Amino acid sequence: MTVHAEKVATGTDEFIALDEQWGAHNYHPLPVVLAEADGAWVTDVDGNRYLDFLSGYSALNFGHRHPDLIAAAQAQLGRVTLTSRAFHHDQMGPFCRELAELTGTEMVLPMNSGAEAVESAVKIARKWAYQVKGVPDGTAEIVVAGSNFHGRTTTIVSFSTDETARADFGPFTPGFVTVPYGDAAALAAAITERTAAVLLEPIQGEAGVIVPPPGYLAEARRRCDDAGALLIADEIQSGLARTGKLLALDHENVRADLYTLGKALGGGIMPVSAVVGSRDVLGVLRPGEHGSTFGGNPLACAVGRAVVALLKTGEFQQRSAELGERLHTRLGGLIGNGLSAVRGRGLWAGIDIAPGGPSGREASRALAARGVLCKETHDHTLRIAPPLVISAEDLDRGIDAITEVVTR
Ligand SMILES: *Cc1c(COP(=O)(O)O)cnc(C)c1O
Repeated sequence: MTVHAEKVATGTDEFIALDEQWGAHNYHPLPVVLAEADGAWVTDVDGNRYLDFLSGYSALNFGHRHPDLIAAAQAQLGRVTLTSRAFHHDQMGPFCRELAELTGTEMVLPMNSGAEAVESAVKIARKWAYQVKGVPDGTAEIVVAGSNFHGRTTTIVSFSTDETARADFGPFTPGFVTVPYGDAAALAAAITERTAAVLLEPIQGEAGVIVPPPGYLAEARRRCDDAGALLIADEIQSGLARTGKLLALDHENVRADLYTLGKALGGGIMPVSAVVGSRDVLGVLRPGEHGSTFGGNPLACAVGRAVVALLKTGEFQQRSAELGERLHTRLGGLIGNGLSAVRGRGLWAGIDIAPGGPSGREASRALAARGVLCKETHDHTLRIAPPLVISAEDLDRGIDAITEVVTR
């Protein structure tokens, strides 16, 4: 039986009006209304096609509706979708083992959203500090970086430095110490015997794709080792092939004690996140201490297993590295001619539009008019993150549009 949804609107303006009247205004979307998508392309309700140069902030690393991922989801929809964690199911163990093997870790805690994974890592690090490190009860600290983005929960915005994300949401959770990102000396100075963990994005995504100075992450690792503190890498946006390697930390040959993964782990189909890491650390959780009704559900695990299978081939890491070189070479050529900076790794770039050029918002609108969708971050920065399945020709097409818009 097919159930047809009632047709409540036609055309872009009507859908936007509905959204604005009935939806909470916590986003400021570009005025396009998408209806269908395939690979690197999306189509709006009026039939216009656009190249997706944002990839759902890296939730769509494998493009829209990757056939292997859709097949895995459809197969699981025909079996069982939710059991709760009150019972075992036959996708959970295999998913955890496959993800642990892929990431070179020993244990997996499946959750749903990225913010939940970060919250989970914070709780685990605190418990580890009290139970294993011997930090006096209630005094554990977690060192974080300025300009971080780790999600939107009350605890996570407690250690954000973005006033828009924090204003009017206090009181905030204590126990966080903020240091400037990329400053190894400041990081070293902030670590004490009460430090449970240092929590960092190996590349700061939301901040504008900020790559830290060479050696910074290795130095963070050394300082954590010296102080007996955990290093937690938030790879929710930077991980799973986005930078040309499985994890962004791999570029520095650094290992974290815990990684938070999300976004692309759900294959663009559903929210799937996880904390992965060593048994010594994740093993501190006992039954009843932490959980989630939907975390590790059979459908999520089946999709996650299909994502792991794609990543195991190395194909997407390689595509990101190769196409990323093309992206960075071409964008780098615009420095001094429309752009003032280009940052990033692999098929991921933050570009600063030079003074006198369009604002990030104006540039995003001009790109949409040319059939390319991406999103500003801050006033004059665009974040470029095409799906890793994009063809070289489509990548060039998108970069041509960016060139037109910023050199206008
Ligand atoms: C997106 C993001 C999060 C939050 O993920 P949600 O699924 O939106 O909760 C956390 N950390 C980083 C680095 C992210 O990019």
